[in-house]
Amino acid sequence: MGYSSEQEHNDGHVVLFPFMSKGHTIPLLHLAHLFLARRLCVTVFTTPANRSFIDQYLADTSATVISLPFPQNIPEIPAGIESTDKLPSIDLFYPFALATIHMQFDFERSLTTLPRVTFMVSDGFFWWTLDSAAKFGFPRFVFYGFGNYALSVSSFVSQNRLLHGAESDDELITVTRFPWIKITKKYFDDAFRGADHNRQASQASEFHVMSVVAAARSHGMIVNSFYELEPMFTDYWNTECGPRAWCVGPLFHLAQDEPHDDLGDKPTWVDWLDKKLEEGSKVLYVAFGSQAALSAEQIQEIALGLENSMVNFLWVIRSKQYSSDTATLDIKAFEERVKRRGMVVKEWVDQKWILMHESVQGFVSHCGWNSVMESICAGVPILAWPMMADQPINAKFVVEEVKVGLRVETCDGSPKGFVKSEGLEKMVKELMEGEKGEKARREAKKLAEVARKAVSEGGSSWSTLQLLIDETTCNK
Ligand code: UDP
Ligand code: UDP
Repeated sequence: MGYSSEQEHNDGHVVLFPFMSKGHTIPLLHLAHLFLARRLCVTVFTTPANRSFIDQYLADTSATVISLPFPQNIPEIPAGIESTDKLPSIDLFYPFALATIHMQFDFERSLTTLPRVTFMVSDGFFWWTLDSAAKFGFPRFVFYGFGNYALSVSSFVSQNRLLHGAESDDELITVTRFPWIKITKKYFDDAFRGADHNRQASQASEFHVMSVVAAARSHGMIVNSFYELEPMFTDYWNTECGPRAWCVGPLFHLAQDEPHDDLGDKPTWVDWLDKKLEEGSKVLYVAFGSQAALSAEQIQEIALGLENSMVNFLWVIRSKQYSSDTATLDIKAFEERVKRRGMVVKEWVDQKWILMHESVQGFVSHCGWNSVMESICAGVPILAWPMMADQPINAKFVVEEVKVGLRVETCDGSPKGFVKSEGLEKMVKELMEGEKGEKARREAKKLAEVARKAVSEGGSSWSTLQLLIDETTCNK
């Protein structure tokens, strides 16, 4: 890795600065691959603890990775934690995100040592990189990791203070610009609603204002989506809001290009899925991303729901969701009970690969935007179980807008409520064996084909990326 003399003849130099969480980093690393393929020179900034993950993704490429020290002595943040995935509680997100301002000095000092930067793609959470871009005189694009539907709906709701008009948390509010969309306050986190009046709420509002203002003053937004997926919302954003959203996704290599051999030492779940395919069995994939924290009680209900549903399943539990101190589920005994029908995995998996596996015919997902995109691109219908952030709005998009999924049944009918085993079992059966599940599967497969075309040469995302490069490099 490094700046070779050949690269000096390339078309430009792009700096990427992903936020320290897997969901924000993975798509930008794929973007790095796309820029490299189009002969741009790429530098990625991160912190020491996140570096090995990034190095692995960019191994055998000419990208340069620079790690900047993460601010120490932030009272709320435990030492050594440099990623929101590793925070003991998501409540620490705001102190963590606000602390990144202390990286600005080292970031700018590092920029002075690099070849001239043509443009930068900064995570939207680093509001302060707008200043750096202005000082060094290069355009800043932001990446938020939202789709245009979530971006447009949340932005319209916020600008028009629609939540203020609701008398109760359950009152249906019409998003008047898109009147078929009805939401309640419960679709949004407390910080967004301004429901709290404590220190966390004031940090949250300070942070959101700074990052939204910086995004508005930026050159554009990179969106992990393709135009055909959400044309109305992309057009709305680009004509009535801005800065311009460049849809260059799906931002991942489609897994069919990555044969099993790339997985190195074959993980156990590869053989297990292959065996299920040979048997002619359909598999349900169950995973809730890298951040979600599930209670021990909720994990128990999931186990029971999966056991009673009688479907084949591959369930990924992150260490954050399952701590042996608090766990009441004995995974070994559970696997024993469900015999060969179910497998529980605790390590990091290649999710795109799993979703692309022919045996996988359904996905119980928290609807993180990357997971939604990956499932759609694999043609796999989703059982939507949102938990926080943009996930409830993404779930609405999945179920009501593009109709590639069903919604899990929560106890109280609210978008993020507790799910009892019966609510899961019923909807799992519907997804895997029911007519509604089959309909969603057909829609997902149609969209998968459109996504494939979008990133193929001449497709909408392919052309948008080329236009972005042409526009930025001709002004350098
Ligand atoms: N790690 C850490 N702080 C961070 C990020 C990672 O200490 O901010 C450590 C983490 O504890 C683990 C290793 O780096 O030992 C790799 O973490 P990664 O997120 O890649 O894997 P995961 O734990 O999600 O499987
Ligand atoms: N992911 C993965 N293996 C895992 C867990 C997660 O590859 O074991 C990837 C997943 O494919 C997706 C990202 O991590 O690309 C998670 O992003 P998402 O937006 O779905 O959820 P978040 O983690 O941000 O809540």
